[in-house]
Amino acid sequence: MDLQLAYYGDPILRQKAQEVGEIDEEIKALVAAMIDVMDQKSGIGLAAPQVSKSLRIFIIRQYDKGTSGDIGEPQVFINPKLSYPSQEILEDEEGCLSVPGVYAEIERPAAITVEAQDLEGNFFTKTFHGYPAREIMHENDHLNGVLFIDRMMAKERKEIDQMLKKLKKKLSKKKWRS
Ligand code: ZN
Repeated sequence: MDLQLAYYGDPILRQKAQEVGEIDEEIKALVAAMIDVMDQKSGIGLAAPQVSKSLRIFIIRQYDKGTSGDIGEPQVFINPKLSYPSQEILEDEEGCLSVPGVYAEIERPAAITVEAQDLEGNFFTKTFHGYPAREIMHENDHLNGVLFIDRMMAKERKEIDQMLKKLKKKLSKKKWRS
């Protein structure tokens, strides 16, 4: 499958993605191709809008940032719905394949519950804590047209404004295909 990465400045990253209807062969092929892209780019998460598909799908590899640094098997979330964000807030560093070279400390709830469908269409509900919860919230934001830089503190965001402008200019000329 020929996928085109969407970079910062691409309007598809600002759209609200569409619900997935039937999980057919095309969706399965898309998810397989997304896993390839995530791994080629050494990412730990990827949302469909980042490969120019405005669909409510994201994948993660659970990353144990705190202790072992281990990376888990790819997990697929189709039509995810997030609930029960914890009161506790954690700050940690995030980056994004669509905003290369930018890393920032972002505050998010420490835990989140997600209800979604897997590749077989089965519904599941799972609660995530720590860095994996952060991955889920970062990727889910992509389905709503939100980027992690939108969640930076205003002062810090201002500091990288020039950098983002330059990046946008550079990336608008860049085409990447798997
Ligand atoms: Zn991202």
